[in-house]
Amino acid sequence: MRVKCVICDKIEGIEDESLEAKRLRNRPIHTYMCKDCSIRISEKTKARIGTGNFRFYRARSEKDDW
Ligand SMILES: [Zn+2]
Repeated sequence: MRVKCVICDKIEGIEDESLEAKRLRNRPIHTYMCKDCSIRISEKTKARIGTGNFRFYRARSEKDDW
C-alpha cells in the first residue's frame, strides 16, 4: 500500500497487513505521517507539554489584618 505523508508529501510504502494500513483503509480521509514527521511532531508536542507544565504558583497574599 502506498501512502503519502500529509506533512512533507513523501510517498512511502507500508505493509498491506500492517495495523497502519488497516487503519488508513477504514478511514476515507486518511492522514498518514511518515516516521520523520511523526518524530518531529511528537518532539514538538513534548516540548509544548514541557513548557505547559511550567506553572507559577500564585503567592497567596496574606494581608489579613486581624
Ligand atoms: Zn513526512
